[in-house]
Amino acid sequence: MIFDDEQQQFADTLRSFARRRLKDQYARWETEPVDAGLIEEIASLGATGLLIAEEYGGSAAGYVACGIASEELSRGDFNVSGLVQLSAIVGAALSRWGSDSVKAEWLPRIAEGSAVAALALTEPDAGSDAAAITTRAARSGGGWVLSGEKASTTFAGYAAGAIVMVRTGGPGPGGVSAFWVPLDQHGVTRQVYDSLGGKFTARGSLVFDDVFVPDDHVLGELGSGFVQAMTAFDFNRAVIGLGAVGSALESLDETIEYTKQRSTFGQPLSSRQAVSQQIAEHYSKLNAARLMGYHALELADLGRGHTAEAAMAKWMGPAWSVDAIHACLRLHGWSGYGEDLPFAQRMRDAIGLEIGDGTPEIMKAIVARELFGTATHR
Ligand SMILES: Cc1cc2nc3c(=O)[nH]c(=O)nc-3n(C[C@H](O)[C@H](O)[C@H](O)COP(=O)(O)OP(=O)(O)OC[C@H]3O[C@@H](n4cnc5c(N)ncnc54)[C@H](O)[C@@H]3O)c2cc1C
Repeated sequence: MIFDDEQQQFADTLRSFARRRLKDQYARWETEPVDAGLIEEIASLGATGLLIAEEYGGSAAGYVACGIASEELSRGDFNVSGLVQLSAIVGAALSRWGSDSVKAEWLPRIAEGSAVAALALTEPDAGSDAAAITTRAARSGGGWVLSGEKASTTFAGYAAGAIVMVRTGGPGPGGVSAFWVPLDQHGVTRQVYDSLGGKFTARGSLVFDDVFVPDDHVLGELGSGFVQAMTAFDFNRAVIGLGAVGSALESLDETIEYTKQRSTFGQPLSSRQAVSQQIAEHYSKLNAARLMGYHALELADLGRGHTAEAAMAKWMGPAWSVDAIHACLRLHGWSGYGEDLPFAQRMRDAIGLEIGDGTPEIMKAIVARELFGTATHR
């Protein structure tokens, strides 16, 4: 991927911020709540307004820019990619399908980082089979009343608002609608999970107990929620892949330096082919996944279909990143296994995004579906 001058400058700025401001604090958010000031600092670099128009405080820089933000910030803290992702998904959806009042109130807040946004689709009994959700909305004077439980929502712990996918019609995808729900509403309760990693993102459940949502908070046409969710996943899967790759490439860069300095049996580790070839192999695979991610996002910027490309980037990026980071951990020996170095945390975090937004099995099923005759975009 060859960036233009503006993209390269954006990438350089974010990489230097990631190393200067995020890396040292990466482990801190394992045990402490994330500092709201840090989120606003990240937003001030433009990372949360990339799919929001300038009139609402964003830059409308596009999909490749989202990939750059995800990759570069993940070099310091992979979980920060979650902020890039959710502000892009929600920013794009509210811009396209939101009412004027919702756009005016929420888009500037998302762009400036004073409101963290979430997307709640998954339920305790419906994940991969997302069209099977049962959270319902019923008509009630001038709006709707929501009831049901959403599971595994990124930022459930502190998001200010969420796009919530609910059933307003019959069974299947055509009965699903998207609502924008401010989460300080009466009847909303949150529960943060004790996750393997990704503590920064306070993943958890959102329970809606007769929560009123006015008509102007319905996004787009009733029954179009499933299409909206799939539109978001299409580009976001590539953004996730690039985040995982960024975290793993940083690990490899650190490991290259380490193996030049660490000697065993009178020779630096880097002089052993068993070591350097491992690194070369991981580097090659990660760069292939990286290029696929940017290719999907370039197609998105051109308004062309990118479903299969994003699905490929989504399964390759996190899976190959986990493998690469694991190798880096091993190549650091006893110290790599400790929490003083970032490899264990990076592995835990990347494993989460093997699952989030669609598992490898589902990603490969999407690629296969496109290959076996239903591809329409070539
Ligand atoms: C870190 C993280 C962040 C997340 N963030 C969000 C979020 O912000 N919002 C949100 O709505 N959801 C979120 N999720 C939920 C995520 O999208 C779902 O967990 C995922 O789609 C899988 O659904 P499931 O967990 O119900 O697994 P299931 O659908 O029950 O699948 C279980 C296993 O079976 C496999 N499987 C399922 N169906 C098939 C099939 N047809 N063929 C072969 N294998 C199959 C799956 O690949 C998986 O390995 C997040 C999850 C994680 C881990």
